[in-house]
Amino acid sequence: MRVVTGARSELPSVRELLTHAVAAVGGTERDGQVRMADAVDHAIRTGEHLAVQAGTGTGKSLAYLVPAIRHAVESETTVVVSTATIALQRQLVDRDLPRLAKALKKPLGAEPTFAILKGRRNYLCLHRVHTGVEDEPEDTALFDQFAVSRLGREVKRLHEWSSDTETGDRDELVPGVSEQAWRQVSVTAKECLGAGRCPVGDDCFAEVARGEAGRANIVVTNHALLAIDALQEYQVLPDHDVTIIDEAHELVDRVTSAATADLSPAMISTATRRCARLIDADIADRLLETGEGLSLMLEDAPVGRLDTLPEALGAAVVAVRDAAHACLTALGSDRREDPEEATKRKLARSALDDVHDTAVRLLEAFDEDLADRKDVVWSTGDRYSANPRPPALHVAPLGVGGLLRERVFGTSTTVLTSATLALGGTFDTLARQWGLPPSPERAEKAAGTATDKAPPSDTDTGPRWTGLDVGSPFDYRRNGILYVAKHLPPPGRDGLGEATLDEIAELIEAAGGRTLGLFSSMRAAKQATEELRERLGHPILCQGDDSTSLLVNKFAEDTRTCLFGTLSLWQGVDVPGPSLSLVIVDRLPFPRPDDPVASARQRAVEARGGNGFLTVAATHAALLLAQGVGRLHRSTSDRGVVAVLDSRLATARYGGFLRASLPPLWPTQRPDVVRDALRRLDAAAPA
Ligand code: SF4
Repeated sequence: MRVVTGARSELPSVRELLTHAVAAVGGTERDGQVRMADAVDHAIRTGEHLAVQAGTGTGKSLAYLVPAIRHAVESETTVVVSTATIALQRQLVDRDLPRLAKALKKPLGAEPTFAILKGRRNYLCLHRVHTGVEDEPEDTALFDQFAVSRLGREVKRLHEWSSDTETGDRDELVPGVSEQAWRQVSVTAKECLGAGRCPVGDDCFAEVARGEAGRANIVVTNHALLAIDALQEYQVLPDHDVTIIDEAHELVDRVTSAATADLSPAMISTATRRCARLIDADIADRLLETGEGLSLMLEDAPVGRLDTLPEALGAAVVAVRDAAHACLTALGSDRREDPEEATKRKLARSALDDVHDTAVRLLEAFDEDLADRKDVVWSTGDRYSANPRPPALHVAPLGVGGLLRERVFGTSTTVLTSATLALGGTFDTLARQWGLPPSPERAEKAAGTATDKAPPSDTDTGPRWTGLDVGSPFDYRRNGILYVAKHLPPPGRDGLGEATLDEIAELIEAAGGRTLGLFSSMRAAKQATEELRERLGHPILCQGDDSTSLLVNKFAEDTRTCLFGTLSLWQGVDVPGPSLSLVIVDRLPFPRPDDPVASARQRAVEARGGNGFLTVAATHAALLLAQGVGRLHRSTSDRGVVAVLDSRLATARYGGFLRASLPPLWPTQRPDVVRDALRRLDAAAPA
């Protein structure tokens, strides 16, 4: 890891640059922002990793971008900034970085540069467009003439777009196209011929983006690409010595997703179609047959986590593995051939590799005793339900800490930041998941914040890191109430009870609408929508009625409107002002008991003598609950109530851990006090 030492350069200090930047973007300097910028600067200079919790309104992107830019310019290097969501990626690239680059040009003596880098699949592949190599159509698609003609129209449009676009970036194509169409004109990193061999390698959009990223001071990317860079042997991100991970509360989930592999009969038939014309038909047919065999076995296999591999299913996976291996052998190594043939061979090899390697990983997952396993396997698929899902097997890592520790913290100074990192009063809960040791005395505390409450523990056997909570500019206790409906019965399995629905109706009436309903399941969100549409005069929007962004816009425009939904709303709604003064949470957001990864992780912790429920389920709930509560205060003038209708937050032993993970709102369990407060807010709000 690179540690910056030696004499300071001629560049202005981070404090000076921050003052300059804040003035240029028309903001005001905030204490938390200055503390965070100093801490990021210190981390970069010492090489000591940093976890920094910065509440909404801190201005944290400036607080890390300014020291990052200064370091990149001073050392002529690149800093990688990773986000979980496209929304934040866009905010950084379209708003924050262009303004900062202009503002810092004069004091730094040159305009800092930045670039965005996505996975290769996100860019149009000119070679595929030029050679017209398309995937063989699925047999069933041949009979669906409507689908074929729609796909044809989309691919034609993509070919036309290829001569207009300057970036080839899929996100710039409006309106978008189906995944199936995009797959015809793009390649994964494994499918790419390589710029040296590709006839249009010099003009390749993905290569141009990589080149620009390699020269830029700041490269903005996403957690998935960060994970792929860590997982693969080949280099995806440009050389960098500092990594900033924003929205770090999502890091473990995103890395886990990137490290999850699937095996389905559909994948096997794609691999067969791709290799069928390149190898002996008998060998390809055998692979197809094993896919059909797997499909039959999956029909009989239990859906959900598999702690043992049923014998017949295991035999089907072995058959797939061996048939894929035979196809790979028949395909042979890459030859000197024309680019079109080479592309077909690459596409076939990549699909076969995926099938073969996943089958191997699935089988190896059961090698160890249950307590020592590194991977969890589960099956999905339900062809008899209203929304039939094709059968598949999946394999995911039980932990990603080792990977992050070795391939992220071990290779660059890393700053992790989010509004929610200190759970139950300590950074250690998430640090453990990231592969960092518990933080000893180095964790700094900000008075009145979550980290003020519990001391971290004491071993230190890994990379050095510091935890810092810079608090929030919001006065949560004055401007917000945390109401726990202790009098309600604990939530049951059969949907929302009558008492809960009555409570929701009374709260919404008191608030005059203005309500965001965060439900733990889509079923509960729909039930509440249907019942309350009948009872109340306020318009109620429900996730799924339209695109989520459109629903959020409608909700923001009309203060009388309510918006109900589930998971993506817990984190994705940013509505400051009087349209949102009540957030309702129907139940604590624990993972579903049948969630295969969470339940296996919980059991693995217990096998090592830990508290699986607290470490996995309660941590998950704390993170999501804190994100949900955070929807209420989006600006310093926002005021309102978070109503948690799950009495366990007040009564259960883990309730204290969850409450210590939330912003410090004024707590009450009295419904009359809350309704009065909501009525007063409604009366005072602008019409
Ligand atoms: S280098 Fe790879 S991604 Fe780029 S045009 Fe060639 S094959 Fe496509």
